[in-house]
Amino acid sequence: MSGPLLKVENLTKHYPLGAGIFKKGIPVIRAVEDVSFSVEAGETLCIVGESGCGKSTVARLLMRLVEPTGGRVLIDGTDIASLKKDALRAWRRRMQMVFQDPYSSLNPRLTAGQIITEPVENFERLSRKQRQALAADLLRQVGMAPEMMNRLPSELSGGQRQRLGIARALSLKPSLIIADEAVSALDVSVQAQILNLLLDLQQQMGIAFVFISHDLGVVEHIAHRVAVMYLGRIVELAPSEALFAKPVHPYTEALIAAAPVPDPTRVRLEASVEGEVPSPINPPTGCAFHPRCPLAIERCCIEVPPLVPMADGRVVACHVRAPATGMPIQPAVKGDHTLDPVAMSESHSAQASRVPR
Ligand code: SF4
Repeated sequence: MSGPLLKVENLTKHYPLGAGIFKKGIPVIRAVEDVSFSVEAGETLCIVGESGCGKSTVARLLMRLVEPTGGRVLIDGTDIASLKKDALRAWRRRMQMVFQDPYSSLNPRLTAGQIITEPVENFERLSRKQRQALAADLLRQVGMAPEMMNRLPSELSGGQRQRLGIARALSLKPSLIIADEAVSALDVSVQAQILNLLLDLQQQMGIAFVFISHDLGVVEHIAHRVAVMYLGRIVELAPSEALFAKPVHPYTEALIAAAPVPDPTRVRLEASVEGEVPSPINPPTGCAFHPRCPLAIERCCIEVPPLVPMADGRVVACHVRAPATGMPIQPAVKGDHTLDPVAMSESHSAQASRVPR
């Protein structure tokens, strides 16, 4: 089949506040707005942004754990919303999810072996011998001893539980794994082991990943392409190397500047931004970043910037840095336009508990 493995078109998710139904005038949380991207077989697309930017809602929409308000998700060209019972079951074999907290996503009463083989047994009957062989094989694939199949999740370390979650996701031989903050709960050395495991599995099995993360260090390590989200929208989507070498959108620039720099030879970007993240219930008009953007011009307060393709293969939504054809690049209107990453991350943290993930 030609074309991308996964295609997302204009995906939108609004949550009504209070009444539970959409009525004119009832406020809504605009968790995801008009998000489009595609993922090729064997590719890793990372979606980054701080808490509340809508990246985890995108993950849930991809898995059909929540229904979209608008837009569609196509796998191998088929709209998943059109799938009926059997086709939906078959599709679910192809997309699996790995969650942030391995402990709460694993049934504490089942052994590791039962947890791993449970998805397969939803589709086919296995003899005891087949179950044990499958569990042993998958445990080996994720670097665990087959003898661990009799242990309960509570008898495993955090890293082993995350490996178990990955083994469970692999059991149905998926084409695509959605990993939502899959390593953020782990300490740094275990994170590296799990990331290397995912990269090895991708090479061996050609699995595509949609990897949701707020950690740019992790993203730079594994991404082929990166989508940056701000307040429900993608503001920049670029090949990973190009994005980290030269971020174009002012928000991407500030995010990268705010990230720790592990390489002492690399120069930290200077960037500053003022103010708080606006509420997704009543987002600013025009570009949602405009109240905090040092490059903002009048047009930014009125028009939502479209994603404009650039020469190096990225798309950027910014009236100033990526003007649509025919529009001149405007001079900035405030200060010297350096972005302050500390102020930015503090204001994002303050908002984190108020917005859906
Ligand atoms: Fe800043 Fe305007 Fe670009 Fe938005 S569109 S990022 S406000 S310059």
